[in-house]
Amino acid sequence: RSLASMRNSPELLAKQRVQTGACAVVTRFPPEPNAHLHCGHTKAMLLDFGYAMKNGGRCILRFDDTNPDTEEQAYIESIIETVKWMGYEPDRITYSSDYFDRLYELALELILRGKAYVCHQRPEEMARGREEKCPSPWRDRPIAENLECFERMRLGMFDEGSAVLRMKIDMQHPNPSMRDPVAYRIKYAAHPHVGDRWCIYPSYDFTHCLVDSLEWVTHSMCTLEFEIRRDSYYWLLEALDMYRPFVFEFSRLNLSHTVLSKRKLTQIIERGLVRGWDDPRMPTIIGMRRRGYRPQAINYFVASVGFSRAENNVSLRKLEACVRRFMDAHAPRRMVVLEPLPVRLVNFAESHPAGDAVAIQVPNHPKYPGMGTRTVWLTPLIYIERTDFRLQDSKDYYGLAPGKMALLRHTGWAIRIVAALDSKNETCAADDQVRMLHAEIVTEIPQPRPKGVLHWTSQYSIPCECRLFEPLFCVEDPLQAAADQGLADRDGWLTFFNPQSERVLREARCEPADDWQPGAIFQFERVGFFCVDPDTDTEASAPQVVFNRTVTLRESFPK
Ligand code: ATP
Ligand code: MG
Ligand code: MG
Repeated sequence: RSLASMRNSPELLAKQRVQTGACAVVTRFPPEPNAHLHCGHTKAMLLDFGYAMKNGGRCILRFDDTNPDTEEQAYIESIIETVKWMGYEPDRITYSSDYFDRLYELALELILRGKAYVCHQRPEEMARGREEKCPSPWRDRPIAENLECFERMRLGMFDEGSAVLRMKIDMQHPNPSMRDPVAYRIKYAAHPHVGDRWCIYPSYDFTHCLVDSLEWVTHSMCTLEFEIRRDSYYWLLEALDMYRPFVFEFSRLNLSHTVLSKRKLTQIIERGLVRGWDDPRMPTIIGMRRRGYRPQAINYFVASVGFSRAENNVSLRKLEACVRRFMDAHAPRRMVVLEPLPVRLVNFAESHPAGDAVAIQVPNHPKYPGMGTRTVWLTPLIYIERTDFRLQDSKDYYGLAPGKMALLRHTGWAIRIVAALDSKNETCAADDQVRMLHAEIVTEIPQPRPKGVLHWTSQYSIPCECRLFEPLFCVEDPLQAAADQGLADRDGWLTFFNPQSERVLREARCEPADDWQPGAIFQFERVGFFCVDPDTDTEASAPQVVFNRTVTLRESFPK
């Protein structure tokens, strides 16, 4: 491709300046509305919106909706909402389908210039012709005949698949996507945006460059798999004497232990392996949002990955580290016990004869006093984490054991276990039979101080559900693993789905706070970072509070 073919004439440049109000940078983010956006799209958005913002330019949100078979209004709405949630404000929202009339006129113009023809080869024949550099028998039919056939295509006088409009570029070209790509195909499908007006739809290769040009986009960025289509992009604009944007490519973002392809994500949904598109395990943006990831953390991650053309295979660990860092600074602390074990404080009445509960003011964040304080109640019965008690003590274990002491977080006191009872209220011999502990409060902490500091909840705490997540796939790259093991069929990679990717704890207990608003984020001390799930219903007669573990406190995988 010659540099000259990329250059715009002074007249076109002058026109561009008028049309865009002399805006130096106009970009577009062009999702196809056939699925919800995923983590990979955050990279494209950061480039498209970010580059425009940095240069005082504009970014258009453009729905690339030329395939009515797979596109849905619900995806359009979700994408608009997601873009907004990520913090971007599109200059305007457009649809490739807004330009169907204009694109049709341009197709006629291309035919008139002798640069497009109607071809009746079957898809297999066309593919073979491309491979063998062998022209279609319809390639040189007269312009008038092409115009007539194209009109008949538009009027619905051909069957689907029996005619296409092809650009007449170069069947001998070393780049296969230059060997007469398809411009229009027949589809008897109504379009979510323009209804049933058309039965011919323009292809990606025909639409993308023309709409970029019609919208006076200055910088058109795509992922690297489109690089081979850049030649035809410029060819078409040149063939129609139209304004040519500057095109460049960047690498796709790939994350370990998951898949970032809309088709693959759709398969996961269709198999019913997760709760839906917004399942917190899904790498979709609505999934990450439900899990508690915030746009700042996601963008920080994407920016740190960088924008080179090099392969972007990034460990999920890195994304989690960014999320953890954000959560640590922004999430207020709470005490929640995942697997509660009740503890009766046998000497409670002795040390607190005045009442049956002690109010303790607790900071919401150890580093940020601005986050305020709250009251936590110490009651005669409390709950500790089941894993914080063992019948057998050992040296590197800081939890409780018979006769052993540990500090109770935020109280300044310790407790010492005096009895471990089973369901018959008898002294217990095995850890899994323990139903209740008896402990005494120790107000004078001996030296050396006990090493363990336990989180706990009071008897006013309420039951809640905590959902803990592990990576969606057991292996780093499920597609590669499937290929390595010869599982080449359409869903072989799904065998690496991690059945333990979600663990639901229904007996957890949280502080009886009224701030469990869906979407709110917290650090549960010693337990992890959590986000309130939209399944939460605190208005119901039996309040239901559901938490998603956003990320662990420390790096926990892959081992
Ligand atoms: P998929 O292959 O998952 O269907 P797509 O590329 O067809 O994805 P679009 O909705 O057309 O998805 O993508 C909109 C924009 O986002 C395009 O510019 C595309 O190149 C970019 N994009 C899609 N996936 C990724 C990814 N994993 N990393 C970076 N950019 C991406
Ligand atoms: Mg696409
Ligand atoms: Mg795609």
